Amino acid sequence: MRMKYRWFSGTLPGLFCVALVAQAQAPSAKHQVKQLKLTILSTMLADEGIGEWGFAALLEADGKKLLIDTGARPETVLTNVRDLKIDLSAITDVVLTHFHPDHTGGLMTLRGEMKKRNAAALSRVHTATGLFYSRPKPDGGDANPMVAMRPLYLATGGEFVEHDRAAELLPGVWITGPIPRKFPERNWSGALQVKTPAGLVEDTVPDDQSIVVETASGLVVITGCGHAGIVNILTAADAQFAHRTVHAVLGGVHLFEAKDQQVEWTADQLKGFGVRYLMGAHCTGIESLFRLRNRIGLSRQTAVVGAVGASFTLGEGAGSSIHPGRVAQ
Ligand SMILES: [Zn+2]
Ligand SMILES: [Zn+2]
Repeated sequence: MRMKYRWFSGTLPGLFCVALVAQAQAPSAKHQVKQLKLTILSTMLADEGIGEWGFAALLEADGKKLLIDTGARPETVLTNVRDLKIDLSAITDVVLTHFHPDHTGGLMTLRGEMKKRNAAALSRVHTATGLFYSRPKPDGGDANPMVAMRPLYLATGGEFVEHDRAAELLPGVWITGPIPRKFPERNWSGALQVKTPAGLVEDTVPDDQSIVVETASGLVVITGCGHAGIVNILTAADAQFAHRTVHAVLGGVHLFEAKDQQVEWTADQLKGFGVRYLMGAHCTGIESLFRLRNRIGLSRQTAVVGAVGASFTLGEGAGSSIHPGRVAQ
């Protein structure tokens, strides 16, 4: 059995169980993406454009494109795509990995700007169940910016598609829907409560979802913040995609605050999944990224801190490449 509970036995509160949704159904289609590129559009470190505490990325798969998250500040991704000479106006679909403002803050600006060139640009947003749940604040406000943003976005002619299970958005490109929390990785702040159909509970970010791409080299997994826990995410992907090896993990894995023991446990699990490439952006944490690199046995070429403008390109056969830009090379 691949999973080991050793890391958290006796060190963390007991198992939590947030079974808000049924386990996602096994994807049936077996389309494999041949050309794949992921370019980071928002994260802390910037090689080109501007950095911020946020995340966004452009996914290109066999000539089709998806925008994943929208950055934190309204103008960041807009500014960065201009600097990077990337055109988002032909993209219709956006994936929001979860409700947090550092992933959703650019949505209205991007939709408004791109709509000037193409009415359908960024007009369909894919969310997982829970993204619109209220996160009540003591002052009566709502810590979930999507509650107020929903009617504004709908007023632009856009639509939200809520997923309670895995779904194929492009041939071979899947969103996971909500992730079962098998291991108590606790990769969230713990500062908020969420109003679920079952009542007010600690906000474990039940809406956290990732993107999984089927390739001949294995799965490429893209995370926003990875609040569900990267090991939980890979475990779900492993079950859903018939135990394919995980070729690459790209995005934020929320280990910046993690203790050494947790980082080491995570590294061992990632190694067990066969992870060969790691572009750890956003909330991964710089120290954690380097510890993961060393313990998994990856190199300067295969595990880097993700920066704005950095990209991952799937290669022929088993080889792929990360172009980290100047600052993270
Ligand atoms: Zn987050
Ligand atoms: Zn985040």
